[in-house]
Amino acid sequence: MLKCREVTELGSEIIDRRLSFRTRLAVLAHLSLCPHCRLYLRQLRLTAETLQRLPPEEEPKATAIFEAIRRRQDGPKD
Ligand SMILES: [Zn+2]
Repeated sequence: MLKCREVTELGSEIIDRRLSFRTRLAVLAHLSLCPHCRLYLRQLRLTAETLQRLPPEEEPKATAIFEAIRRRQDGPKD
């Protein structure tokens, strides 16, 4: 069974479907049991879709979105 940290580290590969069949199964098994990782991947996918829709001149804003998400995830845990 994958750990949450492993799933989040695979994040962009999961979104881009770059995983092997075996790894994908392991991720799916984890997601079926773990609402936290489901939420994380949903946010990641939404962010990726938003970024793809932005015109190139909007890039600084896209970077800001990534920064905001990362700050939230790295924030204090208590
Ligand atoms: Zn998890």
